[in-house]
This record gives sequence, C-alpha cells and structure tokens, in this order.
Amino acid sequence: MSRVYNFSAGPAVLPEEVLREAAEEMMDYKGSGMSVMEMSHRSKVYDGIIKEAEADLRDLMDIPDNYKVLFLQGGASQQFAMIPMNLMKNKKAAYIVTGQWAKKAFQEAGNYGEAIKVASSEDETFSYIPDCSDLDIPEDADYVYICENNTIYGTKYKALPNTKGHTLVADVSSCFLSEPVDVSKYGIIYGGVQKNIGPAGVVIVIIREDLITEDTLPGTPTMLKYKTHADADSLYNTPPAYGIYVCGKVFKWLKKMGGLTVMKERNEEKAKILYDFLDGSKMFKGTVRKEDRSLMNVPFVTGDKELDAKFVKEAEAAGFVNLKGHRTVGGMRASIYNAMPKEGVEKLVAFMKKFEEEN
Ligand SMILES: *Cc1c(COP(=O)(O)O)cnc(C)c1O
Repeated sequence: MSRVYNFSAGPAVLPEEVLREAAEEMMDYKGSGMSVMEMSHRSKVYDGIIKEAEADLRDLMDIPDNYKVLFLQGGASQQFAMIPMNLMKNKKAAYIVTGQWAKKAFQEAGNYGEAIKVASSEDETFSYIPDCSDLDIPEDADYVYICENNTIYGTKYKALPNTKGHTLVADVSSCFLSEPVDVSKYGIIYGGVQKNIGPAGVVIVIIREDLITEDTLPGTPTMLKYKTHADADSLYNTPPAYGIYVCGKVFKWLKKMGGLTVMKERNEEKAKILYDFLDGSKMFKGTVRKEDRSLMNVPFVTGDKELDAKFVKEAEAAGFVNLKGHRTVGGMRASIYNAMPKEGVEKLVAFMKKFEEEN
C-alpha cells in the first residue's frame, strides 16, 4: 500500500485512522453481521450511529440547544436554493460575493426573490475579503449571506460581517471544524462534508429553530423544507447513511485530537509553514491579501504558466498530488485540511525549495 500526500480541495484527504477503522468494520459492524452500507436506516444499530454522530458534533462545536443539526443530501449547491425557499419571507436577501460559490448562491437566490449584492471582491479576482463593518443592508432583508472560506480563491473572513441585526447564513464547506466558532452568531451554518469532514454525499446544516417554519415559498418541495428533516431527525427518507457514519468517526477523531481549539493551532502551524515559504520565495507567490489568507486553501503561482505546469507534474511524480489550481484561476492550490499531517506540508515545502533551486 502506498499513500500519497493529497492536496485536493475536495473530495479530500481523510484521517488514516478513520479509514482503517471503517475498513475493519466493513464486513461486520460491531457484531451486526453486516456493513453499515447494508443496514436499514430505521434499525436500532443505525439509530445509534446517527445519534452519536450528532451528539459528538454538538459537543465539538458547542452547539446551543436551540439549534437543530440536519444531515442532508444535495451538496452545498442544493442549499443555494433551499436557503431562499425557506428563509425569504420578505423575498429579499443580502449577499456578499467573495468568490464563485458565493456568486452561485447569489444567482440562485435571484430565482426566488430579490438577491442584493451588498459587497463584492470580484473587482480584484476575489483576492480579498471586502470591509463588511458598515454595509448598506436593507431593513427588510431576510438574511445576510456569506461564504466564510473561499475554497477556490483561498480567502477567509477573519471577522464576521456586521449584519445590523439580520440573520447570518454561512457556507462553511471548506472551513467546517477547522477552528472553534460561536454558533449563536449565525442563523444557519452549513457545508458539504467532502472538504474538511467526510465522504461526498452529506451536507450538514446547523440551523436556529425559529428559522424552521411551515411558511416556505409556495411550491417548495417537501424534501427541500428544513421542517421536514428537522421533524424527522434527518430520517424523513433514507439519509446518506454510510457517509454520516464516516463523519461520526471523524468527529470522534477530532475529539481525540483535543477538539477544535487544538485543531486551530495545528492548522495555523501548518499554514504558517507554507505561507512563510511563499513570502520568502523568489519563484512562488501567494495570490491573496495577507490578512485574508485561508488556513485551509493556499493558492500560489510562479507567474509563468509553463513553469506552473512543470511544477504540478513533477510534484505529482514525487507523491504530492492534486496541486493544480482551480480551472478558473490557474496556478497551484494546496488544500491543507484537518486531516493533512504537518509532515505533508513540510515535505511539500522542501520539494518546492528544491524545485526553485533547480529551475
Ligand atoms: C465545494 C463547495 C461548494 C459546492 O459543494 P457541492 O457539495 O459540490 O455542491 C459550495 N461552497 C463551497 C465553499 C465549496 O467549497
């Protein structure tokens, strides 16, 4: 068996310990005589798995009692529609557009009501987070929407926007569980788990209870109402059962590692190794404003497309894979999620140093 250092933005690296455990339990989950994949989602055994996953997540994030945790499908992209369908009572919402995912959410919301772009960083290819301390947010806006960590561009909000009392909705797909958060500051925190938590197919929505109502936009499908899933504890229909089981294992792994405060320290330490190198390098450059740098996704360029391609190719041959930047940005991007060991980042930097010397 030979494992590579996988810098993919998502689906992405998972903790080896979790993969090994899942492998061990593949044929016979704890004496049930079957794999979790083969199990009824209504069985007692599975009920234990999903309840424990939720309890561990609540514990990790210190989620207040007046928030529901939903395990859904459809990816983060389905939330782009589900959010306005459930929350746009006044048919008006404010969007801060800091990248492609925020832009897609903004455009989707426009199908259901008035989506208002209150700030954007598109003028400089989304390489920074706009000042959000005093935005012009309409009084009757139903919510303010952000993408908290911009996976493609490598920026992250270091302070939440001043929503002027409006409900904050955040896509945290690529920074989920990377550091402690104060859940009570948000109306909804959601994300696809395939970036920093588990296998593709699960999206976790943490939603304040007062936002879960019958009063959705006319025509909202049953499956797209938060209330449907909240009332049924995420078991209205067959959930992504195996994916939730793996997420549960990652929650246990995070708790064992010391929780989110420790993860934040580890992530800062890992990111610093890479950013310090980029800041000192004559060949490689980071592409975003320093104060807005993401701890999870680190884009960089050489300034020469051919040299970028050469680097990606040689890195792959050396066991550092998926370093090619997003097709819309070019260059390189190293995603260094929770499960990427520090050693992986150190070895990548050593490889970059060597490449710089040789080219
Ligand atoms: C990947 C990503 C998405 C899209 O996720 P899907 O699960 O593929 O729909 C949305 N937002 C962010 C921030 C992402 O990184």
